[in-house]
Amino acid sequence: MAKEAGRGRAQLFEPMYAEAVDQKLDLGRRLRHAVDSGGLNTHYQPQIDLKTGRVIGFEALLRWSHPERGPISPAEFIPIAETTGLIVDLGHWVLRDACKQMRGWLDAGLPARTISVNVSPAQIWNGDFEKVVATVLADTGLPPELLCLELTENLFVDHTKQKVSTTLAALSKLGIQLALDDFGSGYSSLGYLTRLPFNRLKIDRSFVDGIATVPEKRKLLGGIIALSHGLGMSVVAEGAELQAEVDLLAAFDCDFVQGYAFSKPVAADQAAVVAAEIERKPGR
Ligand code: C2E
Ligand code: MG
Ligand code: MG
Ligand code: MG
Repeated sequence: MAKEAGRGRAQLFEPMYAEAVDQKLDLGRRLRHAVDSGGLNTHYQPQIDLKTGRVIGFEALLRWSHPERGPISPAEFIPIAETTGLIVDLGHWVLRDACKQMRGWLDAGLPARTISVNVSPAQIWNGDFEKVVATVLADTGLPPELLCLELTENLFVDHTKQKVSTTLAALSKLGIQLALDDFGSGYSSLGYLTRLPFNRLKIDRSFVDGIATVPEKRKLLGGIIALSHGLGMSVVAEGAELQAEVDLLAAFDCDFVQGYAFSKPVAADQAAVVAAEIERKPGR
C-alpha cells in the first residue's frame, strides 16, 4: 500500500484497487442520475401477524436496475450511497414514495396497513430528520401511526448520543412507530432497547435461519421475544423461509413475520394481490 512504500515516493494504486474505486465512482454517478431521473422503484414485502394471519404491513425496499448491469442489490448500492452522501436524497425519495403509495392504497379502499421504511444513520445525524418526516406526512396525508421507521444499531456507532436520542424522541412524538432492525446481527446492546422509544424489534434473518435445527438459537429466540414483550415492544422475525420456522416463531409468541415463506418483496401493483392471497390461506 502507498503508506508502506516509504516517504517521498510516488506510488500508484494497485491496478485492481483502482478498478474497484472506478467502479464505485461509476455506480455512485449512475445512482445519482437514477435518483434525479426517476430510475428507482420501491418493492414491498408483506409482514404477517402470526396470531391472525392478517397482513399488518409492508416493508418498502429500494430496487435499482443499472442500465448495463441490470438489477443491483441494495446491499451493494446502499453502502455506496452512504459513503457518497447520496443516501440523504435517496432516503427522502423512498420515504415519500412509500408514504404516497400507502395513501394511494387507502384512497383505493384497501385496508390500513403499516408501511415500514429503512432509514440510514446519516439521515438522522445530518439535519432535521423529524421535520423531513413531518413534511412528508403532511404532504401525503398518511396517518402517522401507519408509518414505521426501521433503524439499525449503526445509528449509535461513532456519533453523539444526544442528537440520536433527541431525534428519536421527536419522531416518536409525531406518532410514528420505530423499529430496531437487524437485531442479533451486530453487537445488539440491550441498553438501546431500554433507553430509546422503540416500538418494535426486528430479529435478523441470520438469527431466524437455523431455529428449526439449532436448539441454542431457539433458546435465545425465546428469551429475546420474552424480553421485548416485557419492555413493551412487539417482535418481527425477518427472513423466515420454511414453514417449520414460521411454526416455531408462532409457538414462541413472536408477533409478526416477514419472509419468503409468505412472499418475496413485490412491485407495488402486486402487493394488494399478494396480501389478499396470504390472508385467504387457511390454517393460522
Ligand atoms: P433489511 O432492512 O434487513 O431488509 C430485509 C432484507 O431481507 C431484504 O433484502 C429482503 O428482501 C430480505 N428478505 C426478506 N425475507 C427473506 C427471506 O426469507 N430470505 C432471504 N434470503 N431474504 C429475505 P433487500 O431488499 O435485498 O435489502 C437489503 C438491505 O438493504 C435491507 O435490509 C436494508 O438494510 C437495505 N435497504 C433496502 N432498501 C433500503 C432503503 O430504502 N433505505 C435504506 N437505508 N436501506 C435500504
Ligand atoms: Mg429493514
Ligand atoms: Mg433487517
Ligand atoms: Mg438486513
